Amino acid sequence: MKARKSEILYRKAQEIFSGGVNSPVRSFKAVGGFPRFMSRGKGPWVWDADGQRYIDFCNSWGATILGHSPTTVVSAVTRAARRGLSFGTPTEMESELGHLIQKALPSMARMRFVSSGTEAVMSAIRVARAATQREVLVKFSGCYHGHVDSLLVKAGSGALTLSMADSAGIPASLAQRTRVLPYNDLEAIKDLFHREGQSIAAVIVEPIAANMGVIPPKQGFLEELRSLTQLHGALLIFDEVITGFRVAYGGAQTLLKITPDLTCLGKVVGGGMPLAVYGGRRDLMDWVAPMGPVYQAGTLSGNPVAVAAGLSTLSHLKKTSPYKALDQMTAWFVKNIEEMASEIGLSIRINRVGSLWTLFFNNAPVVDLTSVQRSNTAHYTAFFQALLDRGVYLPPSPFEAAFLSTTHSRAVLKKALQSIEKALKRLSLS
Ligand code: PLP
Repeated sequence: MKARKSEILYRKAQEIFSGGVNSPVRSFKAVGGFPRFMSRGKGPWVWDADGQRYIDFCNSWGATILGHSPTTVVSAVTRAARRGLSFGTPTEMESELGHLIQKALPSMARMRFVSSGTEAVMSAIRVARAATQREVLVKFSGCYHGHVDSLLVKAGSGALTLSMADSAGIPASLAQRTRVLPYNDLEAIKDLFHREGQSIAAVIVEPIAANMGVIPPKQGFLEELRSLTQLHGALLIFDEVITGFRVAYGGAQTLLKITPDLTCLGKVVGGGMPLAVYGGRRDLMDWVAPMGPVYQAGTLSGNPVAVAAGLSTLSHLKKTSPYKALDQMTAWFVKNIEEMASEIGLSIRINRVGSLWTLFFNNAPVVDLTSVQRSNTAHYTAFFQALLDRGVYLPPSPFEAAFLSTTHSRAVLKKALQSIEKALKRLSLS
C-alpha cells in the first residue's frame, strides 16, 4: 500500500525534531500509528496533508472555541499583522484585552500577559512563594500545569499518557517541595494542612480537572481548599488554562462561585495564538517587577498579533454568549453516545462539564487518577483508530479532554455519531 503523506512527513520530521514533534502527545505514541499532519482547518473540520477531512474534537487542545479560522478573528489578526508583528512596547490593544479579562474575572485585579500556560503557572507560583515567604506547593495527582519543574510531579496530560508523570531532569530538592494529593480527597488535604499548614505557599488546582480526562470537583472540594488556604495563610491558585472562557465566560471560578487569589489563563484567551495570562489580587501582583522584587519578563509578551486574536475571540464570546447552547449541544451529543454504548453492551463513562468531555472505557464512576487509570486504554486506542479512519479526530490519548466548538452543529455531530456507532460496534466484536 502506498504510504500516506502524513507518514512520509513524520519520517522526515523525526530527522529534525525530537520524536518528530514539538509536543509529545502529538506523536500518537499513546494510540499507535503515525500522527496526521494537518494542513488547514475551517469551523469543526480539519484537513490533513493527504486531503482527508476530519470532524475535530481536539480543537487545538481546547484553544479554538469558535472553531477553526473564524472569519472575525482571522480578519483581526490580519489587520494587526499588517500594522506590525512585534514592537516590544506597550500597545493600546493589550489594555483593551486586559480590561475584558478583568471584567470577566474580577479576581484578576492585576495581571500579566505571557506566551504560554506553562509560563503563566511558573510566574504565578514564583509570586506565591515570594509573597508568602514559603516554599511548599500543593498539587493534585493527574492535574497538569505545564512543564514547570516544581509541578511535573504526578502530572497529567502527556506526562501521564507517556508514563512520565515524574519527569527526569528535575532536581530532587525542588520536587521535595511539592506535595501531591489525590484530586477530590477532602480528608487528605485537611490532614496535610493540619501537619504542614505553616509552610505551604500555595495550593494549585485545575478547578475542573481536564488533564487526566475530565474530572469535575466533588461538592465541597474547592470550598475546602479555599477555606484551608485562607486559614493557614497560603494562597489558592486556579489553573484555568483550559476552563477559562471555556466552561463559562468567567471561567470555572464564576461558574462555581469560588474566588482564588491567583489565576492562570491560556488557550481560549489567545484565540489560537500564543498568549496566556496570570494575575490576581492587587497586593500579590504588586510583587512583580518593576513594582516589586519578583522578576518576570518576555520579549513577545503581549504580542500584538496574539492580542488581536484574543481580543476578537473574547469580544465575540461576550457578544454572543454561546455557553448555554454549547452545554446543551454537548449534553445531547454525549447522551447519544451513552445510549449507543448501552445498546451495544459496552461499559463507558462520559464525564462532562459544558463543552468539555471525556469518554472513559470504564464501568465505575471516574472521580480521580486512580479510577481514571482503571479505564481500558486498549479500547480507547481501537476506538480512536476506528474513528480516525472514519473522519473523526479525537485527542490522541485516553486521558485528555475532548472539546466542542461553537461550529459543531447538530448536523456535524450527527455525522460524527454515525462514525462513533460503527466504531463502538466494531469494538464490541473485538
Ligand atoms: N495548565 C493547564 C491546565 C493545561 O491544560 C496546560 C496545557 O495543556 C498548561 C497549563 C500549559 O499550557 P501550555 O501548553 O500553553 O504551556
